[in-house]
Amino acid sequence: MLLQNRPHPHPAETHRRYAHLRDRRLAGVLIDEDTAEDREELSALERISCRVHRRWAHECISSPTHVIAVTGHRWCRPCEAEANIAVDELTGDITITCTRCARTPTTPATRQILRTCRASLATATEHRRRA
Ligand SMILES: [Zn+2]
Ligand SMILES: [Zn+2]
Repeated sequence: MLLQNRPHPHPAETHRRYAHLRDRRLAGVLIDEDTAEDREELSALERISCRVHRRWAHECISSPTHVIAVTGHRWCRPCEAEANIAVDELTGDITITCTRCARTPTTPATRQILRTCRASLATATEHRRRA
């Protein structure tokens, strides 16, 4: 919340925020995406890295922070209930299921989560394979 009233932080500030991260590829993506988002070139919901958790999107998408009822992210509209998400890092399988009806919400938000998590998974594992 530190950056809330300062939509255009100095780049050095962004770099400092991620200085402690051991995964430098992740730190690089976070810096790029923060910058793009602050310039309104990238939607926060299209990111493959998470500014809040400082992780890859697929690593923290199961956090309650990523339930957004308004947009339908991890949300089942008919049930007005949260949806769980399971990410299998080995197979790349991602499943989103409502905690009440056990169905997958068929919404643009669900497709967006699948898209961004697949992309973050691919970027993270590609780096690990090379390392
Ligand atoms: Zn997150
Ligand atoms: Zn449901």
